[in-house]
Amino acid sequence: MKKVVVIGSGVMGRGIAYVSAVGGFHTTLIDINETQLKNAEKEINAIFEKGILRMKLMSEKMEAAKTRLHYSISLSQNVMEADLVIEAVPEVMEIKKNIFEVIDQHAEAHCIFATNTSTMSPTEIGSFTKRPDKVIAMHFFNPVHKMPLVEIIKGLETSEDTANAIKRAAEQMGKETVVINEFPGFVTSRISALVGNEAFYMLQEGVGTPEEIDKAIKLGLNYPMGPFELGDLVGLDTRLNNLNYLHAKLGEKYRPAPLLEQYVKAGRLGRKSGRGVYDY
Ligand code: NAD
Repeated sequence: MKKVVVIGSGVMGRGIAYVSAVGGFHTTLIDINETQLKNAEKEINAIFEKGILRMKLMSEKMEAAKTRLHYSISLSQNVMEADLVIEAVPEVMEIKKNIFEVIDQHAEAHCIFATNTSTMSPTEIGSFTKRPDKVIAMHFFNPVHKMPLVEIIKGLETSEDTANAIKRAAEQMGKETVVINEFPGFVTSRISALVGNEAFYMLQEGVGTPEEIDKAIKLGLNYPMGPFELGDLVGLDTRLNNLNYLHAKLGEKYRPAPLLEQYVKAGRLGRKSGRGVYDY
């Protein structure tokens, strides 16, 4: 596996492209939105700079990684040469479906398709292609360059060869892995969506301020971040999309808090929009 294409240059795609290039893969980051792509390039270069400054001895390796990373708005052209495509577009099945149908037409037969979905079914996503054995979920965590895990989720039709190849690719990107079987929300999102949603119910009920709730969870339960700090980092729109999906699949306990829906309607999406529960 040599060439990786990452689709979607938002919160996650930019981090995935960075670890992929650092891991030695020739990587192309793609978005339909040129402004997003420009912002992604700026943020990735800032991460490279920090890496070079902190680890002087590694600067040559970092410079080489930078030259392996390209940015493009042309999906079909780049997918033709890819060995691995990692999709990181919004958590909306219709958007993912359109992407997988297109890439299936253009990619070589050996190319593996991974989705960075937080909750959705790799089996269903695989059904949009003629290669369901080569479709898998490769779930990275935010911020990608710092978080050590990739959760790998096999769909019903995913082959062992595909799972093994993705495990090796994730390891080459410097990550630890767990390989699990599909169920909505997997291991991590099933828990984190509940915690994040419950915090919004508490805020709505007037139990405490965001600062107090975050402090209680961090110092009392030993979480590295409070649920609102994490929600703002993840993106409240992404969190709401995850909850809507899990609510439909797993029932009442995932019903999104009305206050979370209000924040998203108001455009308060978190760090990416400059304002979420907190101001940035
Ligand atoms: P985001 O909204 O920050 O970015 C999505 C990007 O996809 C945007 O730049 C958008 O322009 C682009 N896009 C939309 N349609 C496109 C298309 N047809 N072709 C190319 N690009 C397109 O979203 P995100 O937070 O990076 O989430 C992406 C995926 O990763 C989702 O499935 C989400 O559930 C999952 N995820 C998110 C997090 C997180 O913390 N945000 C963590 C793990 C997994």
